[in-house]
Amino acid sequence: MKKIAILGKPNVGKSSLFNRLARQRIAITSDVSGTTRDTNKKLIALEGNIIELYDTGGLDESTTLFRKIKEMSLSAAQNADIVLYVVDGKLIPQDDDKKIFRSLCKSNQRCFLGVNKIDNDKQKQLAYDFHSFGTKEIYFISVSHNRGIAKLTQLILTHLDLTPHVDTSNDEDILEAIHSYESYEESEEHEEYESLSTHPDLLSSPSQENNTTINVGIIGRVNVGKSSLLNALTGKERSVVSQIAGTTIDPVDELIEVNGKKICFVDTAGIRRRGKIEGIEKYALDRTSKVLENSHIALLVLDVSTTFVELDEKITSLASKNALGIIIILNKWDIRIDEYANILSELKRKFRFLEYAPVLTVSAKNHRHIEEIKEKILEVYKHFSCRIPTSILNENIAQALKRHPLPSDHGKIVKIYYATQYETCPPKIALAMNRPKALHFSYKRYLTNFMREKFGFIGTPIIFVSRGKTQKDAKK
Ligand code: GDP
Repeated sequence: MKKIAILGKPNVGKSSLFNRLARQRIAITSDVSGTTRDTNKKLIALEGNIIELYDTGGLDESTTLFRKIKEMSLSAAQNADIVLYVVDGKLIPQDDDKKIFRSLCKSNQRCFLGVNKIDNDKQKQLAYDFHSFGTKEIYFISVSHNRGIAKLTQLILTHLDLTPHVDTSNDEDILEAIHSYESYEESEEHEEYESLSTHPDLLSSPSQENNTTINVGIIGRVNVGKSSLLNALTGKERSVVSQIAGTTIDPVDELIEVNGKKICFVDTAGIRRRGKIEGIEKYALDRTSKVLENSHIALLVLDVSTTFVELDEKITSLASKNALGIIIILNKWDIRIDEYANILSELKRKFRFLEYAPVLTVSAKNHRHIEEIKEKILEVYKHFSCRIPTSILNENIAQALKRHPLPSDHGKIVKIYYATQYETCPPKIALAMNRPKALHFSYKRYLTNFMREKFGFIGTPIIFVSRGKTQKDAKK
């Protein structure tokens, strides 16, 4: 996403300009006051384009606080696509402004001078002195009298290579996106993400606090080794396996701790209840549905000492319908029926809809890869619960659109204006579009694959929902 930083000394009108730009075309009630001391960041819609706007604190070295703000302002400027340096046109040009402006121009090529408080043409005559700043990019504006603002907006769009979109009024979706973005920005978790976001492999998950319990359901048909696997994972003896149906005294859920994170295996009584089970298939499917309701991640256990059967497929499709994190466990590897490549190609053929799930070859009996299962659970949960910041998400959607433009809808142009992740566990992404109904299944699949390529989303389903940008669009 493109970034604009507004800089200048206190009282030159930065905050008013910020508010004016933030109000362009959409009604954000901004809470930014004229006395702001910190860097403020807002997402704004400028003629339908989403832009990050930074209102940095005033530049003034007279106190320690201001020195600190100055440092922050200058560093915000370095990361911006455009820097707008604002001065007071009612005063004569100040030498320190010139100094700062020139040094900004050296580190940022797109640096503009906004001479504010030019409320009428007479003042404009006087303000020509500001050409001594030595830039051609000088704009005379009056925020309070709304002079020169439209021109400034056009200039910004042109320099950011953006085109105005028509019909940006009544934009509840944009507001919604902005609000969810802002509440996320305000959360402390965000900082953790930002530091890692440049490394897609290290996706941090805001919701993965140490006290979050990851609920894991072990599913699979009878005799694939669920109970043995649970014992291996929890380190308990499998004494209960021989108990009579219905008399089990097992707790329903079992908890372990891995690297300080809690993993809870849900409904383990259902796994361990043995003996005569009427209607094994129905029982297996009912239990699976119940477990899936309460889980973040499903361990889908398949028995590779024999061929896959229809019930495996039914259970698997239930798991994928519930949009959980999934790890496939190929159990009884010690007595596998075939070699790895053949088993895997059979798996891919039969369970094509789970292509995103990691696969582990396991022996519950010999404890092969038991520790790896625990680590995989933590890894998948990280992806399952991750939140991609709106700006990073939109950069990637823009890349995806560039690589493969959206096909037209019966000759009408289809556009994605912006994306926002509105939920985690699993990640759900809303796409604001001019013709939401025209988003084809195959294009969603392409976007899903593109996101996987960029962010991994290991073992995690990604849900895209297309929405109209206005009430009118929603019907198209
Ligand atoms: P569940 O019905 O899915 O809970 O299956 P169980 O855990 O009761 O296991 C069914 C049978 O498979 C038992 O006789 C286990 O000893 C055996 N079993 C489980 N895991 C393995 C394994 O990794 N290798 C071998 N060889 N046998 C296993």
